[in-house]
Amino acid sequence: MDLLDSFTDLKVLGALRLNELASKWLATPRAREHAVKWIVIKEIAGKISLSFGISISHAVKNGETYIFPFDDLVNYLAEYGITSGKKRDHLLTRYKEAMKRFPKVGRHFTINFKECRLWLACKTPGCHTMLKTEYTLPENAKFSWDGGTAKCKRCGQAHRYEQADLFILPESGK
Ligand SMILES: [Zn+2]
Repeated sequence: MDLLDSFTDLKVLGALRLNELASKWLATPRAREHAVKWIVIKEIAGKISLSFGISISHAVKNGETYIFPFDDLVNYLAEYGITSGKKRDHLLTRYKEAMKRFPKVGRHFTINFKECRLWLACKTPGCHTMLKTEYTLPENAKFSWDGGTAKCKRCGQAHRYEQADLFILPESGK
């Protein structure tokens, strides 16, 4: 989703800095509570775009709405990324207004088990490449994987991965 792109004061920080901040946000209680496991902010054709993955240990049911704590992420990025208090307040006010009008945008995602593939993230520092696995999300939510080695096409390095490393990428925003 490219919702972040509409906030100029965040956009000027650049994808690299936003990505660095978002990685730190992953360790916060709100991110963990919502099982956010992976986040990547990239600039694609001049637009800041965000994708995220959630842990499969999160109890999700088919067709369930998953709520991504986008509000908390925006707060975090503003707090640690924008030094001017005035600009920060302006951004947060604009975000709150947008939330009132479009409360589901950037927050509500439908989990479709049939379309949910399990992914891994390359463990090479700084690589940020998502590796597609052969597995899809099981209907009964019980899934057991003994782990294995996966090689990254981008950096060429192979790492060992465990079940806890798997995540899903909710795509269809509603
Ligand atoms: Zn890699």
